[in-house]
Amino acid sequence: MQTISSEININMTNSDVNKQNSCMDDFDPDALTVNDALKNIYAAISPISESEVVPIRESLNRVLAADIVSSLNVPTATNSAMDGYALHGKDIPKEGTSKIKVIGSAFAGKPYQKEVQQGECIRIMTGAVMPRSTDTVIIQEHVERTDDIILIDSETKSGSNVRQAGEDIANGDVVLEKGARIRAADIGVIASLGIGEIEVSRKLRIAFFSTGDELCSIGEKLKDGNIYDSNRYSLFGMLSELNVTIMDMGVIRDNREDLQQAFENAATKADVIITTGGVSVGEADYVKEILQETGTVNFWKVAMKPGRPLAFGQIKDAHFFGLPGNPVSVMVTFSQFVKPALRHLMAETETETFTMRVPCISKLKKRPGRVEYQRGILERDENNQWVVKKTGAQGSGILRSMSQANCFIILPMDGETVEPGTIVEVQPF
Ligand code: AMP
Ligand code: MG
Repeated sequence: MQTISSEININMTNSDVNKQNSCMDDFDPDALTVNDALKNIYAAISPISESEVVPIRESLNRVLAADIVSSLNVPTATNSAMDGYALHGKDIPKEGTSKIKVIGSAFAGKPYQKEVQQGECIRIMTGAVMPRSTDTVIIQEHVERTDDIILIDSETKSGSNVRQAGEDIANGDVVLEKGARIRAADIGVIASLGIGEIEVSRKLRIAFFSTGDELCSIGEKLKDGNIYDSNRYSLFGMLSELNVTIMDMGVIRDNREDLQQAFENAATKADVIITTGGVSVGEADYVKEILQETGTVNFWKVAMKPGRPLAFGQIKDAHFFGLPGNPVSVMVTFSQFVKPALRHLMAETETETFTMRVPCISKLKKRPGRVEYQRGILERDENNQWVVKKTGAQGSGILRSMSQANCFIILPMDGETVEPGTIVEVQPF
């Protein structure tokens, strides 16, 4: 857990105005740390137990709801790893050469069925079952063949070029554990066991809407001071990556009644409700108030930048995330809180996001007091080493900084300005 050291300069001024903490301050005594906020979320969310059976081709990026146990050996039989000649390892000379008689052939799917005596061998292709009592394959490039005689030397070791039955997967092995997110290789592994359908967690239903009187939808003409609603689209993209059922509920105006109705309506349909905007402390920011009236609010401010105002709570059986309105804040808070929460809710076991440490070649301005998620570009330098640089202006409304970035540069809470050459933590997208 990160704590704030006492040296941190709390933005106090000598002016006569009795100022309150604002989202411009870097230290806010009421803000939760990112880790505490995450703990709070995990404590409030129990993974769903409902599951459904799907064909494996429809299982990509779903979460496994039961272990996959193999009821066979893969490969089922010991077979050749190369094109060559299958023989008794004992026939390989200690030194010099030996002559071995070719008495038949074995192909993948067409085994050689008879006994092979010492001094005899079988022409064998990759994947063909090893003929009885042979244990070694000499690759075809390492023999000299004249008619049905091959000349071999001492180079090949006994037992070489053979794949043992069950060496990939043994009968009874747990191949994939409940809670794993299915990837392409997993689908192949499951197919290799002859399994065509698997049990996965049911899809989560996620309802989301934007709030704001200034928002226009695509196709509408922009009026004075209006902007196009981008949050619903970046949310759509981020939710699609998680393979959930998406319920786009549009734009709700900054109006208490409309918001209340939208919250209650969403809570009857969705496992999780996500809103953007209206969570700060402006006159028209009703989200927190209405959440308090219709449900419960678990926390409110997180010591992070961008994205400090963040509401998490429940309305009826639905979890609720009130994200800030600024487009970058939406993407940052989604990736750091909503995404792990949804993965936990869909009963995925591993919910941590991969990070790495690389040198930063830009200067990154920062003051202590909150964790920062600056937008970075990971690239190779002239020595072919990975380094990161910032994308440019880092304002929380500059969505292009996300579009240009391929990673977050995560700067710790008590960290200060980063000079070029410093090692920083990055989280690739
Ligand atoms: P708010 O949190 O509602 O005060 O909004 C903060 C800032 O984000 C304001 O500049 C809003 O205009 C902007 N904003 C809010 N919602 C959206 C949205 N859906 N798409 C783009 N910008 C938004
Ligand atoms: Mg607003």
